[in-house]
Amino acid sequence: MKIEEIIKEKPHLESPLELYKKIRQFVDECKVQKEQIKLENSTDLLDVVLKNFSNVFGIPIESLSFLKDEIIKIPKNPFDKPDSIWSLSIQSEELTKEEIDRMLFIISKPFFVFLRKEGQQASFMDTGKCPICGTDASLSMITENNERIIICPLCEHGGSFYRICCPYCFNKNPDKIEILLDDEEIRAEYCLECNTYIKSFREKHYIKYRDSFLIDLISLPLDIVVQRKGYIRRSPNIIGIKNIE
Ligand SMILES: [Zn+2]
Ligand SMILES: [Zn+2]
Repeated sequence: MKIEEIIKEKPHLESPLELYKKIRQFVDECKVQKEQIKLENSTDLLDVVLKNFSNVFGIPIESLSFLKDEIIKIPKNPFDKPDSIWSLSIQSEELTKEEIDRMLFIISKPFFVFLRKEGQQASFMDTGKCPICGTDASLSMITENNERIIICPLCEHGGSFYRICCPYCFNKNPDKIEILLDDEEIRAEYCLECNTYIKSFREKHYIKYRDSFLIDLISLPLDIVVQRKGYIRRSPNIIGIKNIE
């Protein structure tokens, strides 16, 4: 399903879906250009990221040059530790703290995706965290064979995990994991031991929407309900939302 069609069906989700459309375009452009020009860990690659960010979000490239200077100054290489970009301290009179955080999250996205190698297979079984970028789990797909694949919202890696198990505290007692379904049967599975929840969808949802991150966004109302009950999402969704007030 195309994002435009979903917005018509779910107009209350217009703004997160419009933002996702841009983030998708931005990340995909960066990926394609990285392959085309075969760039590796260099300031050239940073230039590619900032140029695409400028194009897609309509921000003049000159006003991003300060960001380039800041990112180069980060002691931890952002190509190895993309989340180091989130903690840049940026002062601005025009942007709110929330807008700055959102911008840094979006700019870090291609760096997370660059961590992945094509065809790489690694499961979430050992730690419950993403084996590529270390991010906590918050989204998964249950396949037709009743297996769980966790999908990392940051580097976009998918890997297998136990069917019944909290990826945060490894509680495997089915009596201590509860489930809440939304009207499309996308579910939140919450752990009564550590208060973590993850969302999961079925392969039929994937066949309909063809995009796991889109499914995460259309079920945002489910995050609201579960978070109001006091449960915690341990990693942000694709547009950088983790805690919904
Ligand atoms: Zn990851
Ligand atoms: Zn738990």
